[in-house]
Amino acid sequence: MYEMCTGPDEPGTTFVWHVKAKNGTVALCGVPLEPSPTEPVETDRHCPSCMTSFGRLVDQRG
Ligand SMILES: [Zn+2]
Repeated sequence: MYEMCTGPDEPGTTFVWHVKAKNGTVALCGVPLEPSPTEPVETDRHCPSCMTSFGRLVDQRG
């Protein structure tokens, strides 16, 4: 299972939606994610690396 989680993007300049394993602490793109963000973050951006990785995972499952 995978879930969406907000976190800093690669340069760390803004927040984006990452994809991570249900019990994981690291996004598919390798960015470490806080288990429980201290502040709620609102963003419309998605991490392109996570989207690509997630797409591949879905394809592998058929
Ligand atoms: Zn990501």
